Amino acid sequence: MLQKILVPWAMPEIGREVLRKSKAEVIFLHGPKGELPTSKDIMKGILNTDILLPSAFQSIPREMIKANPDLRGIANFGVGYNNIDVKCATELGIPVTNTPKVLTETTADLAWALVMATARKIPQAHIHTISGKWKGPGGKTFMGLDIGPGGSNKPKVLGIIGFGRIGQAVMRRSRGFKMKVIVYDPIKKEKIEKMRGVEYRELDDLLRESDFVTLHCALTKETQHLIGKKQLDLMKSNAILINTSRGPVVDEKALVSALKKGKIAGAGLDVYEEEPKLSPGLSKLENVVLLPHIGSATADTRGQMAVLAAKNAVAIFRGKKPPNIVNQEVLDSPQYLQRIGRW
Ligand code: NAD
Repeated sequence: MLQKILVPWAMPEIGREVLRKSKAEVIFLHGPKGELPTSKDIMKGILNTDILLPSAFQSIPREMIKANPDLRGIANFGVGYNNIDVKCATELGIPVTNTPKVLTETTADLAWALVMATARKIPQAHIHTISGKWKGPGGKTFMGLDIGPGGSNKPKVLGIIGFGRIGQAVMRRSRGFKMKVIVYDPIKKEKIEKMRGVEYRELDDLLRESDFVTLHCALTKETQHLIGKKQLDLMKSNAILINTSRGPVVDEKALVSALKKGKIAGAGLDVYEEEPKLSPGLSKLENVVLLPHIGSATADTRGQMAVLAAKNAVAIFRGKKPPNIVNQEVLDSPQYLQRIGRW
């Protein structure tokens, strides 16, 4: 019987090409302008598919994964896979894959753009200029914060939370700005302590010392609300928080309150707790730069992510080990062997 791969979003052509060559039957499910299908539609589709290729913006909960006893794999389009109940997939013997590396530099670019835009109030100044409010000298000055050493020649401190691929790419961008870089990543503590050019800090110390705090950890049980009221209280009143990781890493309500009270100077966010909803009051603040989750959004990078997700799906389809499996242990499980025995 022909194997089916379900892609419930508007995948770039370059990724579709890889899937078409696999000889699987590929079903694309989305509206004419790329509108995403509802969860109900994905649920219906999953019943009649072998491999699901969702985007990281689509939630794939336990009930969806359990609905089809013959599901062979889930190939996520995205490096973060908190949208999928990986624990359930692993229990059932279903491999899950992601798309690391190809989006590292692009996402680091966006994090850096947020550092600069938030510190120098670029969107606010742009709106002021194009709306005709700029009347020359004597008007609003959009006084910002230095990223480089500034007139007093004092290096700024960049605090990186999560020193994986993207965190390290952000560190490289900071070099041109002569920043001191401090890092918190409990999993890599020993390794980081031996590195040159960065200093390890425990979380509270990093928050106390940094002029910019940038988040690059995955969303897990441990990192959910890693930054809440207590942590925001530790930050300097002239510090800026940047989040391009996942929204729930920050307690957004506590952040709005800290920004309103001037406990920190500003925030640059690409991700939110309940996307696409924003916490009440967030969009009314003047000291924020808010983006609609576009960290990896360049045509080149999204194309390469699509190719990688497609290659992972095709490997699963061919019964091979997919290149970017996130639940490696599944391959030795009796549940997986039982599942492939039914193919
Ligand atoms: P990565 O796995 O290379 O890095 C994550 C790092 O977080 C690791 O070094 C890990 O040790 C560290 N970590 C784990 N637990 C931690 C904790 N409790 N506290 C601090 N650090 C901890 O992943 P990556 O490729 O660098 O991507 C990081 C995340 O960025 C992804 O999981 C994804 O959620 C997010 N992301 C967002 C966008 C976007 O569009 N905004 C794009 C790409 C990635």
